[in-house]
Amino acid sequence: MFFKKKKFYVCSVCGFDRLRGPLYNKDGLPDISLICGCCGFHPGYDDDELGYSFETYRNKWIQNGMEWLREEEKPTNWDLNKQLSNINVSYKG
Ligand SMILES: [Zn+2]
Repeated sequence: MFFKKKKFYVCSVCGFDRLRGPLYNKDGLPDISLICGCCGFHPGYDDDELGYSFETYRNKWIQNGMEWLREEEKPTNWDLNKQLSNINVSYKG
């Protein structure tokens, strides 16, 4: 049986590890076709233009109730800090 291993990428804002590509390529250019299914971060729109860093975007998203852009992508028993550990961040609410 043919088995293809899927490669996923991690969101620098929320740590969601099911992005279908990197938010930024190796030259640092944003992939504007990508949007995080968790925090809704949209590279090239939500970052420099608005003067947001990943951290400010993350804090804003957490303060707004950590809403998922695509609820269907949310794992059961989802845990914020477990997800944030993907990017070596922890949040104390
Ligand atoms: Zn995200």
